[in-house]
Parts: sequence; structure tokens; C-alpha cells
Amino acid sequence: MASTCRGDRVPTSIAIIGAGLAGLTLARRLAPLADVTLFEKSRGLGGRLANRRRGDYAFDHGAQYFTARSERFKAVVAEALAAGSVSTWPEAVPTLSRSGECTPHPRVGETRYVGTPGMTGLANHLAKNLDIRKETTVAALGREDRRWRLRDADQSDLGLFDIVISTAPAPQTATLMPAAFTGHEALARARMSGCFTLMIGLDEPPDLGFDAARLEDEILSFIAIDSSKPGRAGKPALVVHSRNDWAEAHLETDRTQVQEQLLAALARCTGRNFRSARWIDLHRWRYAAVDQPASEPFLFDPDLGLGACGDWCIGNRVEAAFESAAALAGVVSERLADG
Ligand SMILES: Cc1cc2nc3c(=O)[nH]c(=O)nc-3n(C[C@H](O)[C@H](O)[C@H](O)COP(=O)(O)OP(=O)(O)OC[C@H]3O[C@@H](n4cnc5c(N)ncnc54)[C@H](O)[C@@H]3O)c2cc1C
Repeated sequence: MASTCRGDRVPTSIAIIGAGLAGLTLARRLAPLADVTLFEKSRGLGGRLANRRRGDYAFDHGAQYFTARSERFKAVVAEALAAGSVSTWPEAVPTLSRSGECTPHPRVGETRYVGTPGMTGLANHLAKNLDIRKETTVAALGREDRRWRLRDADQSDLGLFDIVISTAPAPQTATLMPAAFTGHEALARARMSGCFTLMIGLDEPPDLGFDAARLEDEILSFIAIDSSKPGRAGKPALVVHSRNDWAEAHLETDRTQVQEQLLAALARCTGRNFRSARWIDLHRWRYAAVDQPASEPFLFDPDLGLGACGDWCIGNRVEAAFESAAALAGVVSERLADG
């Protein structure tokens, strides 16, 4: 987005690494004040707010839904609701016990939201009018005349920037940031864990008695009938998440074996065999959940002009990614205003 520039002052150039919720939130807030460029390694936007289409099926293979507690996140969600990029879902999230009993979750009254027509709906809404370079992985930062030269894995030049902010998961941000960055101690504090996601495409709705449920199981943690979400046009689609601790112990296990174990666990939990489903696919998230946050709302090194934010700063939720980015945007905006 073009920046406003008073007099002949050259606008500050800012590179943001990652177009998940944190990166998009930051870019939206800083774009009126600076020349902001977002770099995203994937083809799509949203990061772990993810959506995958396969034939007649659509799966949200990352976050299933989110909640909004702070007033400023509620305002963003309300705007996206009005634009049709977000809807409410599900009514309830019961827990399915080992014995097959379905019990309602004790926390009632909190509205849950999903992006429409996929979880990326919120990201695509926030991305409007931003300068985003998709399929561009930032691999290295080099110091040049008190600015930062960004390069991709082929050493191709991605530009020279005054400020660089990474919203990649903490371990990836730690690898990217130069040794002099003051945030390394906090980055090392953050702990993240993986997740395997099973995507199952069916001919008929599975009729499990719920749209989404937490699972009491040693392998699985969550099941959702994604096709029951509002605005989904695809055929019946089921998404099943593994437990994060189980995924951590099996990150390098052969994918066929992982898929087989998840299907066996699903049969145990639901009493149904989905092995002959029309579509079955598996996704491995290397960094899915925040087990221990950095416990600082964001990281910013004003001398070097380097920063970092994301869910891993605060906690394991979509809203944490937003809050971290909004807080950092406040500090960077003040610095820009001071010149
Ligand atoms: C399986 C799963 C289930 C979840 N369930 C829920 C849930 O039900 N409710 C909830 O609130 N939260 C849930 N979450 C967590 C939620 O998705 C995250 O908290 C939130 O989306 C994180 O946003 P973020 O912007 O901080 O990070 P991300 O979404 O991870 O964004 C980081 C972005 O940086 C990009 N990137 C990384 N490195 C580079 C690089 N070098 N160059 C360019 N781009 C780069 C990535 O591609 C990505 O797009 C879930 C997550 C997963 C994976």
C-alpha cells in the first residue's frame, strides 16, 4: 500500500515476514504510516488459519474456530462478520469420552467464529490493499548502511528495509534473526509443538451427533465436521487433529503409519470405520501449538530496527496472534510518529 509522505520525508520501509493473522494485523496497522511489504512463503494467506480444497472437498486443516475476548479483536471480527468473511460456528463443543459418552463443555456463552468460505476468509479480508509477495521465503537478513537487505534461499535480493519484523513461529524466527537481536532469550523461552491433521472426504454426512467435539484419547484431540460450517459448498468433510504431545513423539514417523494409527484411533473414538472413505489425506504441522509462550507481548529491538510477534509471544490462540501484533504495531507507530 502506498504510504502517506508529508513534505519530502522518505517513508520508512518495513518488511513483515509471514502473512498469518499476526503479519496481516501488523501490516494493516502500519500501512498508513510507512511503506510496508509482506513476504509469505506459501501460495495462500492465513498461515495456520488454513484451508485446503481437494476435488469436491474443502478442509480447514489448521485452526477450527476462534473466539474474541478483547474489545479491539471483537471490533475486527465484527467488521469481518459484516463483510461476510466470518460467521459463527459451532453452537457447542462437547467432549467425547473414552467410553463414547458425549458431555457438554462447561464454558458456555462464548461465541465461536470461523472464516468463510474457509478459515482463510478472515486473512483474505484483512489482506485487502496490502502489498504481499506470496511464495517468497525470506531466508537471510544482512546489515547494509544501517538497513536490512533481505534475501531468499537462492540469495536473490528481496529489497532493503529500515525495519524488519518476523511473525514466523518462534523457532523459525530465532533462525532468521541475527545474533545481535535482543529478543533471542525470549525466543528460546517459547516452546511450540506439532500436530497431525487427518482430512476425510465422505459421500454422506457422518451424523456423529455433533458438529465438533474434543476427544479424550491418547492419540486424538479434536474432531470437526468441516462441511457443517457456514458457507461451505463442498461435500461432507471431516477434520481430525492429533494430540500435540503424540505428534511431537511421531514427527519423523512414516506418514502411512501415522495415518493408519490416526484412523484406528478414530474408529475407537467414534465406533465408525472411515478407512474406505472417498478421500483421506494427512497434514503434518511442525509448529502448531504454543506449549509455553515467550511471555512478552512482542519483541522489539529499536536500535537494530528488528521485531517479532505472533501467538507464541502470548498463548495458544488465534486471538493471541492478533493481540501480539496489535501491541507491536502500537510501539512501531509511536516510533514512526517520532521520526
Ligand atoms: C492444527 C491446529 C489447530 C488449531 N486450532 C486452533 C483453534 O481451534 N483455535 C484457536 O484460536 N487457535 C488454534 N490454532 C492456533 C492458531 O491457528 C494460531 O494461534 C494462529 O493462527 C497463529 O497466527 P500467527 O500469525 O501468529 O502465525 P502463523 O499463522 O503460523 O503465520 C506465520 C506465517 O509466516 C509464514 N512464514 C514462516 N516463515 C517464513 C519465511 N521465512 N518467509 C516468509 N514467510 C514465512 C508462514 O507460512 C505463515 O503463513 C490451531 C493451530 C493449528 C496448527
